[in-house]
Amino acid sequence: MVADGVTLEGGCLCGAMRYKLTGPSLFVSQCACKDCQKATGTGHTTIVGIHNSQLDLTGTPATYTNEGDTGGSVTRHFCGTCGGRLYTSGTLPGEVIMVQAGSLDDPSAVSPDSVIYVKDAPAWDYFDPGLPKYEAMRPRPHHTIPVAEAQPNGA
Ligand SMILES: [Zn+2]
Ligand SMILES: [Zn+2]
Repeated sequence: MVADGVTLEGGCLCGAMRYKLTGPSLFVSQCACKDCQKATGTGHTTIVGIHNSQLDLTGTPATYTNEGDTGGSVTRHFCGTCGGRLYTSGTLPGEVIMVQAGSLDDPSAVSPDSVIYVKDAPAWDYFDPGLPKYEAMRPRPHHTIPVAEAQPNGA
């Protein structure tokens, strides 16, 4: 959770892309979906859900768009030079984006509150036993967010 009004800074590996993220965050999840595995080369990725207006990005990221689990398109934003992943957005309404927690200058500033897409997790990956786990997407964070945009697939 990023508290209301708290600003965290981050960027890519080479430093060409920098951003400031301002809370409150909607969720912080470990996502083990297949797309996250392929996009990051890891067992799971850690994502911070915020509204698009809460991200102040410097630099122009490269993008890759494909179709997500529920049929909407999912766009991954990353540095075209070093390949560092920054965030994921979707065409679904609400402008919720998912920032890669590992791109924060201090990733320990956030802590995951859930694990999603455990059905796709590699046998060797490990998750905090104390976290709630969901087979696929998590339930929507609160009632003002349509379920379609709360689904973090492809983050
Ligand atoms: Zn870079
Ligand atoms: Zn995912």
